[in-house]
Amino acid sequence: MRLSAGQSGAAGGDRMFLLRRDRAAAPAMRTLFPSVAQLRLELRFEGSASNIPVPQTHILHPAARAYFVFLCPYADCDGRFDLGAIVSSAVEDSLARAEGQLECTGSRVGGHSSRRLCHLRLHYVITSTDASGP
Ligand SMILES: [Zn+2]
Repeated sequence: MRLSAGQSGAAGGDRMFLLRRDRAAAPAMRTLFPSVAQLRLELRFEGSASNIPVPQTHILHPAARAYFVFLCPYADCDGRFDLGAIVSSAVEDSLARAEGQLECTGSRVGGHSSRRLCHLRLHYVITSTDASGP
């Protein structure tokens, strides 16, 4: 699944809209991952800035949308973290836990309309609970 390119200069409201639209179009967890009873995503952020975003925990049940794209928490950044492939491979390999890091590739609006790269690091822990049991 790819987004069409060419939406340069999308404002914050637009990327929220696109995210909501994509999430609404995503299949349900129970359709994509029928064996998963609960998926827990813990997101922690690390970086050099003084205002590091607060950690997030997302718990997805079978009725939830199987959509794992998270916008960079910085409101002035156009980056996003896509955990879709990571979640898919973790579930397919029946991993109870997957952990790793991603780096934001977006850029943030600086002073005088210059942009600088974000480089915010996301440390994720994905915990999957199996519906069928051992
Ligand atoms: Zn960012």
